[in-house]
Amino acid sequence: MDAAKEGKLGPLKTAREEAADCTRCDLYKNATQTVFGEGGAKASVVFVGEQPGDREDIEGRPFVGPAGRLFDTILEETGIDRKKTYVTNAVKHFKFQSRGKRRIHSKPNAGEIRACRWWLGQELTMIQPDLAVALGATAVRALTGKALAVNTLRGSVVESAEGVPVFITVHPSSLLRIPDREARHTARERFAEDMRKVKTMMRKG
Ligand code: SF4
Repeated sequence: MDAAKEGKLGPLKTAREEAADCTRCDLYKNATQTVFGEGGAKASVVFVGEQPGDREDIEGRPFVGPAGRLFDTILEETGIDRKKTYVTNAVKHFKFQSRGKRRIHSKPNAGEIRACRWWLGQELTMIQPDLAVALGATAVRALTGKALAVNTLRGSVVESAEGVPVFITVHPSSLLRIPDREARHTARERFAEDMRKVKTMMRKG
């Protein structure tokens, strides 16, 4: 714990190495590799997405696909210092269905979320952030253990099993799926507004 709080990866690095060999559910069988969280061991905020996508699975890093790039841009616009953040996913292996050469994202089920919760718990316990941000329904379920409605609770703060405050919002990938340009712009603004609220809740540093 001390090494982690001093800013060295310490126990987080050990957890990452152990997770590389995880077989707690079946998702490791078809994915390329475990995609563990990334960021500061003293992070003020932990962002939790759903699961790695195709790009993340190949690169072995979270939030490096199209949604991750959009997320980075919005964080930068809202003045959130990435060095004070940690990004991870509720489920750490890519779940997909093969269609020809394409791998289509498939939603993790309750059992997979529960199995992988152990790693998310490790990350939260070691980092002890001021705040966790649940990006979408899977993250909400992983953090709270409940299937809460994101649209109803968006912008509110609940509590994780570890007692960490959890701010609820949508996953940035949902912005990319909106076909209408104006509606997409409005949704992006709303997400940016959520990130500005998150910034006001960050205390460390
Ligand atoms: S998805 Fe999570 S619990 Fe399942 S094998 Fe991968 S790391 Fe382990």
